[in-house]
Amino acid sequence: MSAAGGEPVESFNYPSRLARLREILSASGLQALLVSDQHNIRYLSGFRGSSGALLITAEEQILFSDFRYRLQAAEQALIFHFQEVKRDPLPSIGEYVREKGLKTAGFEAHALTVEQLSSLRRASRGVGWRRAKQVVETLRQVKHSQEIAEIARAAKITDDTLEHILSSLAPGRTEHEIALEGTIFMMKHGAKASAFDVIVASGPRAALPHAESSNRTLERGDLVILDLGARLPSGYCSDLTRTVAVGRAQDWQRELYSLVYEAQAKALDGLRAGVRARKIDAAARGHITAAGHGGEFGHGLGHGVGLDVHEAPRLAEAEKTMLRAGMVVTVEPGVYLSERGGVRIEDLVVIGQGGCKILSHAPKPAELPVL
Ligand code: ZN
Ligand code: ZN
Repeated sequence: MSAAGGEPVESFNYPSRLARLREILSASGLQALLVSDQHNIRYLSGFRGSSGALLITAEEQILFSDFRYRLQAAEQALIFHFQEVKRDPLPSIGEYVREKGLKTAGFEAHALTVEQLSSLRRASRGVGWRRAKQVVETLRQVKHSQEIAEIARAAKITDDTLEHILSSLAPGRTEHEIALEGTIFMMKHGAKASAFDVIVASGPRAALPHAESSNRTLERGDLVILDLGARLPSGYCSDLTRTVAVGRAQDWQRELYSLVYEAQAKALDGLRAGVRARKIDAAARGHITAAGHGGEFGHGLGHGVGLDVHEAPRLAEAEKTMLRAGMVVTVEPGVYLSERGGVRIEDLVVIGQGGCKILSHAPKPAELPVL
């Protein structure tokens, strides 16, 4: 069967996702949940339209959207009842909750504007709307084997893309050209899109952790950070970073690369279910700090990857989350020396009971590769 977008209909286990959500709602005393975050809508229902919201109660699951999505909803959100609305679904959802006589309902604070919240409240006087914190996000953290298979497929595309762009990396080419080539390659090989703009950061620009690619021309002696991710038609993403030197490498560059490589190895060594996220961050950070570069590793060690390329859990300094089997995270230490350059190495891994399995298979030499 083919959906409105011409892509195969996904067969994720939506009933089980809803059942788990309902357990959380009932435990937190909520009679309903309004879901307006697009990734959460997709996770729970399969619906990929750009406008609409879900209402989940103990007995019902309803997708509120407008006539443009009627057909698409029937094909994608198979187990949801479709409620057609004029444009803005929130007043209709508010009225529905009020008419059902529900007293407490949750909303996603990060996915509702102040204006939307007041229109919801106006339409549902008497209903106690409460901010439901990270409910669906928490469910999304632990991946089912089918989701892991999708993420691994996305990871394979980024591995192949990296190999492709490294084969033509040379002085004289611009960051933009390389990024564009990577994006096109990914899309020709099964990605629906780049999960984020491909990062090619060379020379002093490699000192910017989230540099966008620019018109800078690669020069001999540059460190180049390549960070890319693919998004599949199913929505699942990947994320991968490698750092290479162009033409030649100096000692400080080799040392920096080895430091980051070792820091990543330490984190990967400790990564398993039952450990707190911050402990893994500390394993990598401690190594970098001991070498005197703690101040130049200014971001968290990693993040969850799924329908969103940055999702829970985070591997970061204050992050208390207990890691669980089935979580998929990146491990990406980096050190950035202002005006000189930087190194980041990032792999995508799935956490297991006794360790972790690396989903990224792009070559990762222990010594700085010089191309
Ligand atoms: Zn990345
Ligand atoms: Zn990342």
